[in-house]
Amino acid sequence: MDFINIDHLLSGSIDMHMHPGPAAGPCRVDAIEAARQAQQAGMKAIVLKSHSYTAAAVAIIVNKLVPDIHVFGSVCLDYEIGGLNFHAVESAAMIGAKVAWMPTFSSTNSINRMRALGLPLEGEGITLLDKTGSLVPEMERILSIIKKHDMVLATGHISPGETFAVIKEAQRIGIKKIVITHPTDKEFSEKICSIGELQQLAKMGAFIEFTLVGMLPNEFCHDPAQIAQTIKTIGAEHCIISTDLGQPQNPLPVEGMRLFIATLLHHGITQQEVELMAKINPAILLDLDKNSEIH
Ligand SMILES: [Zn+2]
Repeated sequence: MDFINIDHLLSGSIDMHMHPGPAAGPCRVDAIEAARQAQQAGMKAIVLKSHSYTAAAVAIIVNKLVPDIHVFGSVCLDYEIGGLNFHAVESAAMIGAKVAWMPTFSSTNSINRMRALGLPLEGEGITLLDKTGSLVPEMERILSIIKKHDMVLATGHISPGETFAVIKEAQRIGIKKIVITHPTDKEFSEKICSIGELQQLAKMGAFIEFTLVGMLPNEFCHDPAQIAQTIKTIGAEHCIISTDLGQPQNPLPVEGMRLFIATLLHHGITQQEVELMAKINPAILLDLDKNSEIH
């Protein structure tokens, strides 16, 4: 492999999915530390994700304390915020949250798998579909808030059936920013999309997310060569990369981003493809002009 300046690729990158503290459990870093480290590496932006609360207010405070980087909040429709609770989505959006994740740990498609991984979760799980396969009524208001505030709709841990149903409706009402959340991390979900389905979703305009966490040797040891191949099959112009890090046993998010970029390059992803997935596509989703100065 030719010499590649990783610092140059890390600089200006965006991690749209990280889990710094405070959280209900231990974290490797808190949101201020994560933002400082990302800023020192020259990263352009980070998105805070929490399963415990809407991270919008935390992001605003961190933005005040840490200059020269964009820090965004998000909301995750798990039991902790009331599940499919439009009040929480609306207040998060009004505070500035940029991403609305569909249910993750609380998703019916995920809750048993997450329990098996050791999380003490209660409840039967939340599904976006009723018995007839239609979206549950709560989704109408939630999608209209996402549209009104031009938020990113991220699929969380929902099933392929839920994914297609919610994206079709989202597109019908004009939601443009859609991310299929780490669909290759099969350990989180009962059902995951096939590569063919991901290609179909990409054609519909969704970005497909790949995260580092599943590849780590202490997590799921996913084969990075296979991830690189999947990216090539889908096309980097339809993909984003993020870390999903913040857990105490894992690398710091900023080092995770570095490692992810280096690993993909090692397996044949080009620098241009990295730029698309780590900089250009996330900047589109977050309305950050790739040439604009940080303010
Ligand atoms: Zn996550």
